[in-house]
Amino acid sequence: MKVFMGMIEKLQIVEGDITQMDVDAIVNAANETLLGGGGVDGAIHWAAGQKLLEECRILGGCATGNAKMTAGYELKARYVIHTPGPVWRDGTVNEEPLLASCYRRCLEIAEEHQLKTIAFPAIGTGVYRFPKKRAAEIAVTTVTDSLRKLPGIETVTFVCFNEESANAHRAALDAICAEPSSL
Ligand code: ADP
Repeated sequence: MKVFMGMIEKLQIVEGDITQMDVDAIVNAANETLLGGGGVDGAIHWAAGQKLLEECRILGGCATGNAKMTAGYELKARYVIHTPGPVWRDGTVNEEPLLASCYRRCLEIAEEHQLKTIAFPAIGTGVYRFPKKRAAEIAVTTVTDSLRKLPGIETVTFVCFNEESANAHRAALDAICAEPSSL
């Protein structure tokens, strides 16, 4: 697993598989049913085991941009925070604010439960087709902004599944670091 420490102390970018992360909570890029799917959602359910699906069944789904938490079962992570990202259409149907809301709500829920370490996949950038570069900018800026109000969270890791995604997150982080006003 390659690790790139950002200039902003609490953020880190790694290239790897989120199901292997040893953190308080991993985030699942779910769909509104919360009943599992492909991509990272399928990988998380597979690694966590059947009990995750049983707990998800009683949650009654989740709206796009919101989030709900479950236990992590057989994962190293103690919890999973499930958030349905927006399906990208053309950028005019609230996709960007909804993606920002996914990151913000996951962090708020983590803080409510006194969690200190949380790992995110690149929400929306797979089957939901959100443009990767723009998604990385929204991820990094929303997390940076949110952390100012959520002092209990110590480390946020962006777990990128490939080099292209890691590069997009590093570029977004570098852009923030180049703007002293945003630090
Ligand atoms: P969405 O429906 O929100 O687009 P996907 O699961 O299709 O969700 O993809 C979201 C991102 O997660 C993609 O960038 C994909 O490459 C990545 N991904 C898939 N599997 C994993 C994994 N095991 N760990 C981390 N990221 C993953």
